[in-house]
Amino acid sequence: MSTPSSLEDLIGALRCLPGVGPKSAQRMAYHLLQRDKQGAMHLSRSLDHAVNTVKHCSKCNNFSEAEVCSMCSSSRRETNLLCVVEMPADLLMMEQAQCYRGMYFVLMGRLSPLDGVGASELPLARLQRRAQELSCEVILATNFTVEG
Ligand SMILES: [Zn+2]
Repeated sequence: MSTPSSLEDLIGALRCLPGVGPKSAQRMAYHLLQRDKQGAMHLSRSLDHAVNTVKHCSKCNNFSEAEVCSMCSSSRRETNLLCVVEMPADLLMMEQAQCYRGMYFVLMGRLSPLDGVGASELPLARLQRRAQELSCEVILATNFTVEG
């Protein structure tokens, strides 16, 4: 018995997700096609839409649908502080703690030479430009790891 090529394509495509090997990709594909066609259609539409509309804010580098995100264009934020975080989830955590009212810059990663992420893979020039533009204090809020 051979696998239809469109099913093989789907299994292959699912493997682009981090931590998804051939077995999990196969399980996901079977689940979507056999048990949750509605969910599969929703996933397909959402993925297509997000890929085509989500970009990076030109100021903080966070995900945004606009050229400048709502946080960077808000007049209620303090512009004398710039907090550097690794990922959008770190920014959300800071916001939920409600103890910071300044601006952010999201690196979308961290320096990790062992994983092949060097200074040139991170938007450090943009971070520097943004800090100069605000001429503000920069707070590093990267994670408590060697890379951070
Ligand atoms: Zn922004």
